[in-house]
Amino acid sequence: MSPTIRKVTVLGAGTMGAGIAQAAALAGFSSVMFDLDPAALQRGHDRAVSQIDDGVRRGKIAADQADRARGNLTSSSDLATAVSGTDLAIEAIPEIMDLKKKVFAELSRVCGASTILASNTSSLSITTIAEAASSPSRVIGLHFFNPPHIMKLVEIVRGELTDDAVLEASRKFVSALGKEAIVVKDSPGFATSRLGLALGLEAMRMLEQGVASAPDIDRAMELGYGHPMGPLKVSDLVGLDVRLSIAEILHRELGADQFRPPDILRRLVGEGRLGKKTGQGFHRWDDTAKKKA
Ligand code: NAD
Repeated sequence: MSPTIRKVTVLGAGTMGAGIAQAAALAGFSSVMFDLDPAALQRGHDRAVSQIDDGVRRGKIAADQADRARGNLTSSSDLATAVSGTDLAIEAIPEIMDLKKKVFAELSRVCGASTILASNTSSLSITTIAEAASSPSRVIGLHFFNPPHIMKLVEIVRGELTDDAVLEASRKFVSALGKEAIVVKDSPGFATSRLGLALGLEAMRMLEQGVASAPDIDRAMELGYGHPMGPLKVSDLVGLDVRLSIAEILHRELGADQFRPPDILRRLVGEGRLGKKTGQGFHRWDDTAKKKA
């Protein structure tokens, strides 16, 4: 039988962690945020609360649901307190394997024996992360999308040793959040990063070869295929440095030429043109565009 999840602890109160904790609190789970950096923890908590308030203002969240969610949401700068009695710990710390392994080893020591240990990694192997845990069978990938309180998809990544009951409990959790799950095996780039990157890198090569301009390549997929946003815009939003590092991982691990990072991507990253976050990538992002995007 799959364990019942009532209490969730999110590690890392940054871009993803705060939104995941917010989504869990809104869905009625007791939701605790933990961060090594007390200032980041406070910012994450404030952001989650202000996004709930914003949801009420925009008529997306009922006032009583918002009250309950604020009550469900707590934070702690002490790890043992944050995970005390938790059924599911979700790690959302930076995308560095050694850091993740350290946290999973620590979680194995401080969490109860039945706590599910999940990672929000977008590209690292769940099986490798799980090697650091005392029982790798309770480790799983729960890959949320940005912004996590809005995006409907959660990609569930099953490690080589992930237990069936852990997968089942994770599916129920995702569904209780009002989100949809896809289940993928632990392979480089999972489904989402691999497919998204294949399209993005091909669009970059087409731009290099002068097939069409950046706006026209994006319009091709927006108007011709109904994608909400073209592949170069998506790359700008994700961050070109992030795209480059995932391309390098996929190229190395899958050995497929379509994941070889195009020269234009390396050049833009070298010049510090990282996309929306620096105001310039394949497109220009002024303050207005930032607000719209
Ligand atoms: P972020 O840099 O915004 O936040 C990371 C937070 O983790 C920081 O507040 C930092 O202080 C904290 N932290 C660092 N070490 C810690 C530790 N040992 N224990 C607790 N907290 C610690 O990062 P992010 O963008 O939220 O990304 C987090 C994870 O989510 C990464 O694995 C990333 O690949 C993945 N992800 C990111 C996105 C995205 O669009 N940003 C989308 C999907 C998945």
